[in-house]
Amino acid sequence: MRIDLHTHTTASDGLLAPRALLDRAFAAGLAVIGITDHDTAAGVREALAAGGARPPGLEVVPGIEISSSVGDSELHVLGYFVDPHAPAMRAFEEERRGLRIERLRRIVRQLQAVGMDVTEDEVYAQPGGDGAPGRPHVARVLVRKGYAASMSDVFGRILSKDGPGHVPVEKPCARDAAALIERCGGVPVVAHPALDGVDRHLDELVASGVRGIEVDHPDHTPEARERFATYAEERGLLMTGGSDFHGDGRKDGGTLGGTTCRPEWLEALRRRAAGR
Ligand code: AMP
Ligand code: FE
Ligand code: FE
Ligand code: ZN
Repeated sequence: MRIDLHTHTTASDGLLAPRALLDRAFAAGLAVIGITDHDTAAGVREALAAGGARPPGLEVVPGIEISSSVGDSELHVLGYFVDPHAPAMRAFEEERRGLRIERLRRIVRQLQAVGMDVTEDEVYAQPGGDGAPGRPHVARVLVRKGYAASMSDVFGRILSKDGPGHVPVEKPCARDAAALIERCGGVPVVAHPALDGVDRHLDELVASGVRGIEVDHPDHTPEARERFATYAEERGLLMTGGSDFHGDGRKDGGTLGGTTCRPEWLEALRRRAAGR
């Protein structure tokens, strides 16, 4: 039984539409897929909507990945078994979308100011660019137009802190992200803590209400996985795993089902979500 609890769709910066992702998951032999778009559950709503054929027997775990911050670090908080229709979720999506659109406008203006030929419309025209538009949508335009060699080139040179396209965006703290997820019936889990120096803050995150850790992720070394699993076991935290599939085979997003979640981890997560 193979379970991938971390994927993105065209509701955020993934390249596959929700139903196409389900078909791909089924073809890859997955039994369970978690849909965890950045700052939106719109992809979950679409995946679960009535009508159209869905792959038989494929379970969809409704999720979200909230962009937040801890200290100076960017922090992603996964939320599992959230109600994608919860009023608090819809309000959060609207608020974040407004801020993302504002940030995008400023990024594009700054890039134009250094002579790059890029427009807001081009960014919105990218897959998912009209949902939760983010830096990946800008990056894809820049790569296509030859301003950069790859997505990581854009993030490292153009959208980085000292790059011309850097625009900080206000983000919720860990406590607020965790509280929102719980208000929507979900379980908050720290995403890929080996990235962005988030692992230095684990104690603080646990104190802020996060209930689990993403142990298995394509960017985690075997040593990191071991360390996070031990950390979680010692504190009775939940554990998860997933590929962070974005649909485009790039280095930092895994292949669908390439990193999985152990069945007993999912069952513990399910029990926790049902127990509230
Ligand atoms: P945003 O939603 O605008 O904050 O963008 C964050 C997303 O950009 C991450 O979740 C990744 O999907 C993507 N990303 C971040 N760093 C890189 C990188 N170095 N190369 C490619 N994609 C990246
Ligand atoms: Fe992403
Ligand atoms: Fe992430
Ligand atoms: Zn992700």
